[in-house]
Amino acid sequence: MTASSAVDRLGPFPAARNGIRMTVMTEGRSAWNCPVCGTPHRPGSTDLKFPGFDIYRCPCGLGYSGLAMAGERGQSYNAAYYQHVRYADKAGRDAYAGHLAGIFDGCLKECAPPTGGRRLIDVGCATGDFVGWARDHGWEASGIDASPEAVETARGRGLAVTVGNIEDIGDSVDRPYDVITMWDVLEHLPDPAGALSTLRRISKPGVVLVLKTVSRTSIIEAMARLAYRGSLGVISAPLRRIYVPGHLYCFTGPVLHRLLARCGWAVGCAGQTDTPSRALTGFPPLGAALGLAARIQRTTGRCYELFAACHPKTES
Ligand SMILES: [Zn+2]
Repeated sequence: MTASSAVDRLGPFPAARNGIRMTVMTEGRSAWNCPVCGTPHRPGSTDLKFPGFDIYRCPCGLGYSGLAMAGERGQSYNAAYYQHVRYADKAGRDAYAGHLAGIFDGCLKECAPPTGGRRLIDVGCATGDFVGWARDHGWEASGIDASPEAVETARGRGLAVTVGNIEDIGDSVDRPYDVITMWDVLEHLPDPAGALSTLRRISKPGVVLVLKTVSRTSIIEAMARLAYRGSLGVISAPLRRIYVPGHLYCFTGPVLHRLLARCGWAVGCAGQTDTPSRALTGFPPLGAALGLAARIQRTTGRCYELFAACHPKTES
């Protein structure tokens, strides 16, 4: 099954309700509001407790980390972070770039830029594997990433990549982009609504935003949670591989679509998928187990990755 076959057309979404505030000041203290629905954080909404951070669940369905409320990134994106097989191992890199390419091609078949333009930026491009794929497939491709170490690696591969955050894109744009990609970034950002709103603000009409993030409703998550609960917290390793400190948010499909709508994006198509096992491990027995889990997740419609392609909403 290819990623493109998982692309589904979606119906119309509710009218945008912009203007959500991330933070309100109350008697000198800051309260934290859900970036999706605006509900204030309630301490009693704890879902999971881990050393160093807790995971909470908003009534809207968003999972969020205590680190998100603290405005922390949760993880250092230095050279050590990019030693993962999907970045550092040639077969892993190729597998992952191919995975992203499959999602990208499937989404673009449904939501191609109306002008047919080929100018693309990959936001949070890491070491540039997707930028390289896009360049090799006829796109005028560039990337931006907050990690100097990752950008250095990408530049060493001859790619047009700069160090910066989403806010820096607008300052450096002399021509608007036709396509923006954002793979595995949203869950790492303390302020995902701010990021999506910024992208909306700097985008021209007709731009296509293709993004992918993590789901909290996968079969693997449910099994890891069962082991954790059943062992009274002793078997925590599987769950902690999912709820890593760097993942500040965990979505469901409807929650992701609601966030996009609130930030001015109309979802044209969306779907779910899983990372190929070769991009997760170079150890064949583990790869086989992960491959089997992914097949079960696809069959049940409860994968670990959510993706969507969106256009800017038109003002009504
Ligand atoms: Zn919420």
